Amino acid sequence: MTRYIFIVGGVMSGIGKGVSCASIGKILQSSGHKVSAVKIDPYLNSDAGTMNPVEHGEVFVTEDGLECDQDIGNYERFFDQNMYRYNYMTTGQVYHSVIIKERSMYYNGKCVEVVPHITEEIIKRIELAGAKTKADFLLIEIGGTVGEYQNMVFLEAARIMKLRHSSQVMFIMVSYLPIPKMIGEMKTKPTQHAVRALNSVGIQPNIIIGRSSAPIDNPRKRKIAIFCNIGEEDVISAPDSDNIYEIPLNFEKDKMSQRIFFHFGMQTKKGDLKEWKKFSNKYRRLTRPVKIAVIGKYFSTGKFVLSDSYISVIEAIKHSSWSLGFKPEIHWLDSEEYETNPEKLKELKKFNGIIVPGGFGARGVEGKIKVIKYARMNKVPYLGLCYGMQLAVIEFARNESKLKNAHTTEVDPKNPHPVINILPEQEEKLKNMNFGGSMRLGTYPCELKKDTISFKAYGEKNILERHRHRYEMNNDFREKLEQAGLVIAGTNPQKNLVEIIELKNHPFFVAVQFHPELKSRPLRPHPLFREFIKAAAKRK
Ligand code: GLN
Repeated sequence: MTRYIFIVGGVMSGIGKGVSCASIGKILQSSGHKVSAVKIDPYLNSDAGTMNPVEHGEVFVTEDGLECDQDIGNYERFFDQNMYRYNYMTTGQVYHSVIIKERSMYYNGKCVEVVPHITEEIIKRIELAGAKTKADFLLIEIGGTVGEYQNMVFLEAARIMKLRHSSQVMFIMVSYLPIPKMIGEMKTKPTQHAVRALNSVGIQPNIIIGRSSAPIDNPRKRKIAIFCNIGEEDVISAPDSDNIYEIPLNFEKDKMSQRIFFHFGMQTKKGDLKEWKKFSNKYRRLTRPVKIAVIGKYFSTGKFVLSDSYISVIEAIKHSSWSLGFKPEIHWLDSEEYETNPEKLKELKKFNGIIVPGGFGARGVEGKIKVIKYARMNKVPYLGLCYGMQLAVIEFARNESKLKNAHTTEVDPKNPHPVINILPEQEEKLKNMNFGGSMRLGTYPCELKKDTISFKAYGEKNILERHRHRYEMNNDFREKLEQAGLVIAGTNPQKNLVEIIELKNHPFFVAVQFHPELKSRPLRPHPLFREFIKAAAKRK
């Protein structure tokens, strides 16, 4: 029997609902239960692939090739478990399937309505996820905050599920408790209003997680309890933490799992978070820094700098650095600055390693190429991810193979030296404006060449990695590039596509067509990131 825990947001977004959801799952998993999660994105987009990363954060990719919300990445990292298509749902997907059914007379002449047809489709999808995963606990994170039009229909579906299976469903609200400077006191009123809003759609939370800059004291717990109609012990304090992996431990300080078992009428089982604790506590003791520069362009919205667009890259750096005993310092560098001010390149000297992560389009590309050239010539450890590999090939072709102005057809379709070219099956898709979910997505095999850095890192010949791209290295130029010293360290055995390039006579220059960052887990750092950090730490 699957028990369903709905996680809803109150007061405002961006306060860590996804990490809360992942943390609750982690705790329940640690007590020997099977857990899984569903993220509901209340957007009309069918998936996250068409959303701008600056607005929506990183596009995560599952094994089975779904482009989804970054929270799925949090679930994978916290549960150490792969997620699949059924772990993600958008408003767009739900409406789309109802409309398709309507066109095929599935509803037998009935008027098709938001309630019950959309709500039933939502419930069906949630129950399917429960059945597919055979989870004891399925956490369902409803995106957005209560009171928005956008997620109303999902709350309605959740209410109906509670009505049908009362003992199998519970609600947790993640709310925000501001401490305004001019008052100097933690205020509970916004949370009270959020709970009223939730009550008005027929839902009463069982537990409230109070996010704030400080822990919740007892008088405030009492206040929340009485005004929000819950027990004091059901108010869980969630103060800001600079290490997300500590959050499950923080929740347990307020006995989160005990409260969940209580609400489901289950016996309390003590969880074993020893390994997790060891891993997340380590971070406080680390002093030896490793300075990594990440060169990208999806950072700024107005005056604010966001790193959410590269969240998996950040986490992968952390996993490896922590496991090797280093304190990572990640520096965000805007690729466009190297185009207008080449002098800036000199500043790269101070970093131990450089990463060029995935990206699209022409903006910032020449800046990234300059940085890659710097890393190659000055022997700075370099890890290229997807676009970071394609641009490394371009840089090498231009400067080592004398293919002047070589480029990718993504930026320069008429280039005489298209060392990076569109995949044949992608050409048709672009012509037909078929942009949604149509890239080379998900897991593909890769065969490694012996005596390469990659082969040593993985310790095996055949690996599987996740992809998200339309372009690839052009095999017509392979020989020429190899003659100039480029090492083809990994290829896809079915299509003979180049998946990894490396350089000799360099402490670490590895660039991959796939996204290793998506598969790095806290207690199982990704081998390429691990070797990259190792090499970086050695650099003076
Ligand atoms: N823009 C490149 C492509 O489509 C790289 C994609 C990426 O970095 N994810 O092939």
